[in-house]
Amino acid sequence: MSLSIRGYAAQSATTPVAPHTFERRDPRPDDVVIDILYCGVCHSDLHQARNEWHNSLYPMVPGHEIIGRVSAVGAEVGKFKVGDMVGVGCMVDSCQHCSSCAQGLEQYCLEGASWTYNGTDRRDGLPTFGGYSERIVVSDKFVVTISDKLDPKSAAPLLCAGITTWSPLRHWKIGKGSKVAVVGLGGLGHMGLKFAKALGADVTLFTRSPGKESEARRLGADHVVLSTDPAQMKAVAGRFDFILDTVPNPHDLNPYLATLVLDGVHCLVGQLQPLDPPVSAGAVISGRRTVTGSAIGGIAETQEMLDFCAEHGISSDIEMIDIQDINQAYERMLKSDVRYRFVIDLASLDKPA
Ligand code: NAP
Ligand code: ZN
Repeated sequence: MSLSIRGYAAQSATTPVAPHTFERRDPRPDDVVIDILYCGVCHSDLHQARNEWHNSLYPMVPGHEIIGRVSAVGAEVGKFKVGDMVGVGCMVDSCQHCSSCAQGLEQYCLEGASWTYNGTDRRDGLPTFGGYSERIVVSDKFVVTISDKLDPKSAAPLLCAGITTWSPLRHWKIGKGSKVAVVGLGGLGHMGLKFAKALGADVTLFTRSPGKESEARRLGADHVVLSTDPAQMKAVAGRFDFILDTVPNPHDLNPYLATLVLDGVHCLVGQLQPLDPPVSAGAVISGRRTVTGSAIGGIAETQEMLDFCAEHGISSDIEMIDIQDINQAYERMLKSDVRYRFVIDLASLDKPA
């Protein structure tokens, strides 16, 4: 007997996200069954619901910033018990034996991680479905603990926006004395500002939106640069050790590269598409600069980030929505009209569609 689940799904690239009932597996011995309370809305949900990465599987139940309570556990689960507040991010499984998994970098699993949605369960071959739904069944290795010091609503976005910005800041050893710039003030960008500040860096926001300055300062920016103003860009030439670029679409990296110090690093976390226009070789050769990228973060690192947030009182700025409002939320996200993450209250599944 499998579980019948209410959720919201995209049925194609061109149809709105709408009510959808589907099945989840019976729990396996290592599974945790989670009654979902809240799910953040990531720009990746929109990209994938609309097949912008050309790999979408339908029906698709998006959602990979999941917070809920454990409602059952399999016989082999020791780490979680019924009633625990837990989280699930972008992955629900990986091979567990390759060199990446051995380092706790499951997101770089050499056999490919199993994504929370728009993926395939590596054990039964069935499609995975995400957090725009009432319940999820996940192997205990991919479930993280949510401290009672964290508000569960504003903790939801930490499971993707949080870890995706935390992981590169830690990998490139950002701390006191680092000069960091974050490009784009959206879901990822606002967490990037908070984390870079909390780690002790001097923090700059690059934004193309005039009017975000006071908000950016409230979120941790020491300086704000309007990226569309060449004079402001010139004024920060050769300044930054590390740029965290959260822009979701192809954009010109060259003006940003000129703002890096010798050996500076420009790290892409937003766009997946080819660089357009190309990076000028001269821009990287001249200052021995690096253009690189980073994907979410491993499970141990996700728990480390959540524990850091609990200790330092950090969480996402959120706007709660009902699941019925998801399509309008996508449109607002496209207009950068979100402060700074939508979070779905799954109790709204009981309301009429
Ligand atoms: P978001 O909330 O929509 O924020 C993106 C921000 O980028 C906007 O608020 C805007 O900030 C800026 N921006 C948008 N379009 C732009 C353009 N054409 N040119 C320049 N700036 C632009 O999105 P998000 O949820 O933070 O996600 C950002 C990207 O990261 C998405 O593509 C998502 O798929 C990706 N992502 C990657 C990973 C990973 O593991 N690498 C994980 C999660 C998400 P301003 O108004 O301040 O300019
Ligand atoms: Zn995401």
